[in-house]
Amino acid sequence: MFSILKARLFQGYRTGAFPPAAPKLPPHFMGRPEVEPEAIPEDAASICPVGALDSQGEDRGIDLGRCIFCGKCAGVPGIKFTREYRMGAMTRGGLLADGRHFEPDKQQNEVIKKLCGRSLKIRQVSAGGCAACELDFNVLNTLAWDMGRFGIQAVASPRHADCVLVTGPVTKNMRLALEKTYEAMPRPCFVIACGSCAISGGLYRGTPESSDGVETLFPVDLYVPGCPPHPATLLEALLRFLGK
Ligand code: SF4
Repeated sequence: MFSILKARLFQGYRTGAFPPAAPKLPPHFMGRPEVEPEAIPEDAASICPVGALDSQGEDRGIDLGRCIFCGKCAGVPGIKFTREYRMGAMTRGGLLADGRHFEPDKQQNEVIKKLCGRSLKIRQVSAGGCAACELDFNVLNTLAWDMGRFGIQAVASPRHADCVLVTGPVTKNMRLALEKTYEAMPRPCFVIACGSCAISGGLYRGTPESSDGVETLFPVDLYVPGCPPHPATLLEALLRFLGK
């Protein structure tokens, strides 16, 4: 007992100051891009491996729901990646970086604020994920991020969950398991798509084994882009989702 107390005293308080302080992001962090659609060359879309960059159509810009933040377009005229980590959106349209003024959206759904504002239980389902999104969600459980201090917890059973947080493109093999998880949750329940695979299929979009994201099965209440989303991006999106 004494050694435990001594270790605690020696280690001090390890949970990061985010929030309210800004998160410490790595030097190579790529956040929400600033886009000038008119300046993007018409043939630029060909360099994007996932079809996230539209350089000709009506939605000129970058679809963050597809972008894997590979950085290939970082030197293209009209595209500048910033360190804006607040990228989660409650509508699919909120993921389009098209040069319009960007402001993170606020939770308007009073039911979500009332039911989940003080406690959110999350059942995480890896529906064919590569483990990157899963690991960065797990990081939020560590003492460095400690999402439990906001009442957010991962739970083992969908019967105890308010929402399902889906990672991966929803492979054929995981489709039934995800549907059963969704059905097992008490109503009302919510769906969070975490990472480009869960939002749109990501790198696996269009392949026969992929369902191209969770939206093809259920309505999504929160989209968190990234490949994987940085823990700060995910935590900030979850807090905004709860109306905090
Ligand atoms: S950073 Fe995103 S938009 Fe740019 S090339 Fe890579 S995947 Fe495409």
